[in-house]
This record gives sequence, C-alpha cells and structure tokens, in this order.
Amino acid sequence: AFTLPLPAFTRHTRANVKIQDGCNCKCAYCTIPSARGPSRSRQFEDILREVDALQERGYREIVFTGINIGTYHDGSRRLLQLIEAVLANSSVERLRLSSLEPAMIPKGLLELMKRYEGRLCRHLHISLQSGSPATLKRMNRPYPLEKIVAFIHKAVETIPQLAVGVDVIAGFPGEDEREFEETCQTLRNLPIAYGHVFSFSERPHAPITAQPDIPRVDPRTIQERNRILREIVAGHKRRFLETLCRDQASPLRVLVEQYRAPYWEGHTDHYVQVCIQAPESAALRNEILDVIPLSLQDERILAVPRQNTLS
Ligand code: SF4
Repeated sequence: AFTLPLPAFTRHTRANVKIQDGCNCKCAYCTIPSARGPSRSRQFEDILREVDALQERGYREIVFTGINIGTYHDGSRRLLQLIEAVLANSSVERLRLSSLEPAMIPKGLLELMKRYEGRLCRHLHISLQSGSPATLKRMNRPYPLEKIVAFIHKAVETIPQLAVGVDVIAGFPGEDEREFEETCQTLRNLPIAYGHVFSFSERPHAPITAQPDIPRVDPRTIQERNRILREIVAGHKRRFLETLCRDQASPLRVLVEQYRAPYWEGHTDHYVQVCIQAPESAALRNEILDVIPLSLQDERILAVPRQNTLS
C-alpha cells in the first residue's frame, strides 16, 4: 500500500482523493497497464487522514478516484470497508465513486447506498464498453454481460433515482453489424441515466495492435456507429432528467459550485448539473441546497431554491 502527501487545495466544494493506481487487467484496447503498472492501493488510514483534512478545510464532497478502484484493498480491507469507514467515522456530506469496472463492483454496495442515503451519492459510472458478449470477449473483458445487465436493473430498482452511467466503445476491431446491433439493443434496454461513447482508435502499445489479423472497422462506419450510440444514450439522459424534473415530491439537493450569471451552478448527487435562479448576493458557493426543479435547459435542470432555504 502507498501513501500520499496532503495536497494543498485552494478551491472548496469537491475534492478528488486517489485511493488506487495501476491495473492488472489486460483489456485489448488499453495501454494503462503498460503505462501505470500493476494495481496498488493506498494505505487505508492515509486515505482517512486526507478525507478528515479535506473536511476540515471545508470540502463538502469527496470523490474516490483511481484506475480500477474496485480492486482497492489494504490487507483484508477493501473498497466497501473504506467507504463505510469514511461515512461512519466522519461527517463528510457526500462521497462519490469514480468509474467502476463491471467485474469489480463490490457486493454490498447497494446496501451501503441505502444505509447512507444522500451521503453515498446515487451515482454509479460503469465501464461497460460493449453490449455484445462476442465483442467483450475480443476486448478481453470476459465478464458475463447478463450479470452486469441484471445488476444495473436491480440497482435502479433498489435505489430510487440512482443515476447509472456507462462507457461504450464504437467500432472495436471485429465488430460486425450483428455485434453492433447487439450493443445497441443492450443499451436501449438498460435503465441508464447517461452514457459516454468513444470511437475505437489504435494505440501503439495496446494488445489489440499486435493482432492485425482482426479486421478493422472503417473510420466512416465507426463515426456512424458512434452517432447512433450517442443518440441512444442521449435519449436515456433526457428521460432521466425529465423524471427528476417531474418528481416534485423529492426536491433536488445541490452542491453549489459557482456563480455564472444569471445562475448559481452546481451538481446533484446524481451528478446532474443544476442552474439555480438566485441573485449573486445570495452567496451560495459551497452550500448544499434543496431546490425545486422548474424545467430542462439542454442537459441541465433549471431550478429555484426551496422555500426557506435562502435566508
Ligand atoms: S480498461 Fe480499465 S480494467 Fe481494462 S486494462 Fe484498462 S484500466 Fe484496466
């Protein structure tokens, strides 16, 4: 396990805390293992110390980051114990996890989200990469797709308003029309809140580069597939935001980050951007505020502070 010196942060609101580095997986498109080396975890107590220090400096939200944070372990203590230690022993108001590998999502995470509702952010970003078992196999990501699909369904049923996001790659070598359609179908049927779509690009030290026999998808097709996938995930995002806007019964809680005339801007625990109608003089920076959603503005929610939350 490694330690890190306490960083000298100058901005408040949200702080990234690195808990892990490197990766032992060998995904065919990825150069991280060769660039960053094998997976290693930061000392448990060192992380708790940093979280305490950040909290004392006024940070309201902590984000656990790393290359493959699901592999975190210091002795027998793993990611779940780390999350629990932070939430049980500090008054950190929000803890968010960065991206999780599907095969490394800790068992018990949803229970923890339920137990620490509002503090452990209702936000899961999952590196799905493809919705086709054959493509995943060629990517050397041999987890059973149906298991992760079932997990995502269970997750959104268990945690109200949970925002699940996925990464997807368009045009991985060997991806034919049938596999691409499988990925589209998987994505259409997933109850996700958003998705990030990337086009496959050749990287010098990625394992797939040493397999020129696998047919490459031509750049135009990659571009077109990227467009189709973006359309699918944009539909999910719109529906998710509309649901949040409609759900007037539960006001949104926003960590306010900055004033950009004419709004105060911040993010909910689902990591949805919210623009709040309030004067600059309200000095809302670094406040956690309940707001009532009014409407959608592109991919942001326009809202007003709930009555009595502004003095
Ligand atoms: S894609 Fe993620 S899990 Fe796969 S090798 Fe790269 S860092 Fe590791």
